[in-house]
Amino acid sequence: MSSLLQHFTSRRTTSAKQTLRIGEEIASKITNPCAICFSGDLGAGKTTLIKGIIHALNKTNINEIQSPTFVYMTPYEETTQKDGLPICHFDLYRLSSESEFEALGFHDYLDSKYLCLFEWPDKIPSLFTKDTLLITIAYTGETEREITFSTWGAQ
Ligand code: ADP
Ligand code: MG
Repeated sequence: MSSLLQHFTSRRTTSAKQTLRIGEEIASKITNPCAICFSGDLGAGKTTLIKGIIHALNKTNINEIQSPTFVYMTPYEETTQKDGLPICHFDLYRLSSESEFEALGFHDYLDSKYLCLFEWPDKIPSLFTKDTLLITIAYTGETEREITFSTWGAQ
């Protein structure tokens, strides 16, 4: 089981702002580099949640954090603390194989000093181990979402 999983229980959010705050809370539990998967339909709030995490761990202004849909990955090197983690924000939506991922040079970021955050992990499931933390966001109303925590292997 992912050791991170024990820190989290399901959450309901009723606004994007609250989801950002939950992202900041999640960030406060992350002390080591790892991969985290974010699942959910388009518009569920994956990027919003990740913005909260990046904002907490990195000096980048929240309004400058965008989905890396067309560039596949955005790195955030600055950290809020001296020993803070650099981050890679991946969007795998437009990728279809691990060899494509590899050809883009992204393998170097896995098992490295980077915290790797993945939107659309189902596009390349082979990248993840059964212990990888999986955060699922479900649309439950116009501004309401349910955020649940599990591991990739529990899918
Ligand atoms: P995804 O990355 O899953 O496609 P985004 O985070 O880009 O989703 O978009 C989520 C959209 O839903 C944003 O326009 C956001 O303002 C809106 N929204 C409304 N309520 C919420 C909520 N409770 N949590 C997250 N986003 C919400
Ligand atoms: Mg997104």
